[in-house]
Amino acid sequence: MEFWLGLDEDQIELRDWVHGFAEGVIRPAAAEWDEREETPWPILQEAAKIGLYGFEFLANAWSDHSGLSLPLANEELFWGDGGIGMAISGTSLAVAAIYGSGTPDQLAEWVPQCFGDADDPKVGAFCTTEPEAGSDVGAMRTRAVYDEAKDEWTITGQKAYATNGGIANVHVVTASIDPTLGSRGQAAFVIPPGTPGLEGSRKLKKLGLRASHTADVFLDSVRVPGSCLLGGKEALDERLARVREGKRATSQAAMRTFELSRPAVGAQALGIARAAYEYALDYAKNRVQFGRAIIENQAIAFALADMRTEIDAARLLVWRAAWMGINNQQFTAAEGSMSKLKAGEVGVTVTEKAVQILGGAGYVRDHPVERMYRDAKIYTIFEGTSEIQRLVISRAISGVHIR
Ligand SMILES: Cc1cc2nc3c(=O)[nH]c(=O)nc-3n(C[C@H](O)[C@H](O)[C@H](O)COP(=O)(O)OP(=O)(O)OC[C@H]3O[C@@H](n4cnc5c(N)ncnc54)[C@H](O)[C@@H]3O)c2cc1C
Repeated sequence: MEFWLGLDEDQIELRDWVHGFAEGVIRPAAAEWDEREETPWPILQEAAKIGLYGFEFLANAWSDHSGLSLPLANEELFWGDGGIGMAISGTSLAVAAIYGSGTPDQLAEWVPQCFGDADDPKVGAFCTTEPEAGSDVGAMRTRAVYDEAKDEWTITGQKAYATNGGIANVHVVTASIDPTLGSRGQAAFVIPPGTPGLEGSRKLKKLGLRASHTADVFLDSVRVPGSCLLGGKEALDERLARVREGKRATSQAAMRTFELSRPAVGAQALGIARAAYEYALDYAKNRVQFGRAIIENQAIAFALADMRTEIDAARLLVWRAAWMGINNQQFTAAEGSMSKLKAGEVGVTVTEKAVQILGGAGYVRDHPVERMYRDAKIYTIFEGTSEIQRLVISRAISGVHIR
């Protein structure tokens, strides 16, 4: 329970281990996979071989009582490269959904299939966003209908922008069971490998994170056995009955899940920001104009001072929220959302400043900061936009239903 900012030996070892992989394997390949806009399977394989890609790694990180393992690992991974970092960590979205809602049997059956193994790595996808339901998750149109006689669900709908959508071995999709209940009438399903009716679109062309596969997913009368409903039918029926009685517990549980996952996402943005800051600092010390290094100008030095200050401030929010989550603290001011909001926006402003400090060199692909700038922008959009984070925080601090 003690809040302690010094890293212990295990945490330092973890950080340095991930950093070593990021520096030695990810960085040298980053520009190539960004240009290719393809999933970097050989790098996933390398990560699986050393135990950085797999459930054991995640389970260890999730069980660390300081909460810092995942933020530390994510910061280093994404310091290596945003796109490859997302290719490696995208599967954790599906795994987190199975872990959060599934039974122990479901966990044992599906999580290994999300990752595959080092000889044949696989990926998982978590598909919830839809063309008409982005920030407004309650507007979800994908429907799941139960056939009691066959103990089978039929799922029909369309998902948008799913990381690893269509190429995943295991897809976790959310669907509405009772649309009259909005987001509280929804459930999550595992779609096993090769299930007929599920298809991914072509890979979407993106501004950044281009090594990570993003696609729409179409579900045309996809039939799955009852065992694919995460948590099982009995738990679902009980939950829906509680919601119909007007009890709010379910929505609070969902909010807590978001608060728990957001610091890990914030740490990704932090890694990209730190990489851009370090590059710009180094560049500013070496670039000479008017007979002196550009860092000797306050305009440049102060920009770097601000960048570093903002990164450190964001990291403190990320670590606080991660610590609160693992220690079962109440997120009374939506501290998880705060951490993602701050880190996401710091990611964008710091990478933009790095481009500025490099001048023309910042704008061309001979240097990595333009890629970092493109990669960072997603952090004010996915996993809840900055506006949605502000909505959540303002509601939490005011008790008023801000719109
Ligand atoms: C690269 C990438 C990867 C992704 N990966 C996944 C994934 O793996 N799984 C998945 O399910 N989804 C994924 N997404 C989807 C992502 O989570 C959504 O794009 C995001 O939630 C925003 O939804 P939207 O795009 O529909 O925007 P909208 O909800 O249409 O928002 C548009 C704008 O309106 C603002 N806005 C909306 N409502 C309000 C409000 N009430 N108050 C103030 N402003 C508001 C938003 O902040 C935003 O600025 C991914 C997206 C991208 C681009």
